[in-house]
Amino acid sequence: MSAEQRRAELAASLAEVRARVDAACRAVDREPAEVELIAVTKTFPASDAALLADLRMTDFAENREQEARDKVAEFTALRPDADVRWHMVGQLQRNKARAVARWADVVESVDSERLVRALDRACASALDAGERTRPLDVLIQVNLDDAHGRGGCPPAEVVTLAALITRTSGLRLRGVMAVAPLHGDPDMAFATLSGISRQLRDRHPEAGEVSAGMSGDLESAIAHGSTRVRVGTALLGGRPLTSP
Ligand SMILES: *Cc1c(COP(=O)(O)O)cnc(C)c1O
Repeated sequence: MSAEQRRAELAASLAEVRARVDAACRAVDREPAEVELIAVTKTFPASDAALLADLRMTDFAENREQEARDKVAEFTALRPDADVRWHMVGQLQRNKARAVARWADVVESVDSERLVRALDRACASALDAGERTRPLDVLIQVNLDDAHGRGGCPPAEVVTLAALITRTSGLRLRGVMAVAPLHGDPDMAFATLSGISRQLRDRHPEAGEVSAGMSGDLESAIAHGSTRVRVGTALLGGRPLTSP
């Protein structure tokens, strides 16, 4: 496919996704401007992110450190003047914290005290080395699933983790993130997340972001107060089945 064809394809799917977001907001009397659209570019090339940036997308998400690091470098070479932000949304090993601090503007998958400490140290080193100029925005990923292995902090531990984050110098707490359970009702999961977010905002008014909703469930997430939907498939197309 030529770049021209791909650009047209992405423009069409972006218009469709924006229309879905607008309709979902209208249905519950919210302003579309309250809901940020993040393009999940995992498994897709940097050239797709560049075309989306041309279409005025400003936020991109990745779920694997190594893939993201290479893609961000390639993207920056393709569009050196683009003003965009990169979000890490995948499970993160502590030993990758230093690498992530070099390219990520936001880490949405913070779920343990050990990871908070590692990211804070990593951020301080990256600032010292001139590899970043700003603190790292973080979201606490909440596990709504009981199932193990998909990451996320148990709901009962969110308050403690939030307090630890606010005591660091390198990290800024911005809110919560969650993925709806694979099986089960997304409405219930997003309602739970909304309650957790409300409790968090009582103590930390600056932590108002709710990152929830993907290609299949963004309407439900928006109905329950999502401020940030992370959309991959509906924007970029299907991924190989091996991708998480
Ligand atoms: C892949 C992924 C998405 C996007 O999923 P789609 O169903 O393709 O829209 C959103 N959030 C996270 C954490 C992901 O890993």
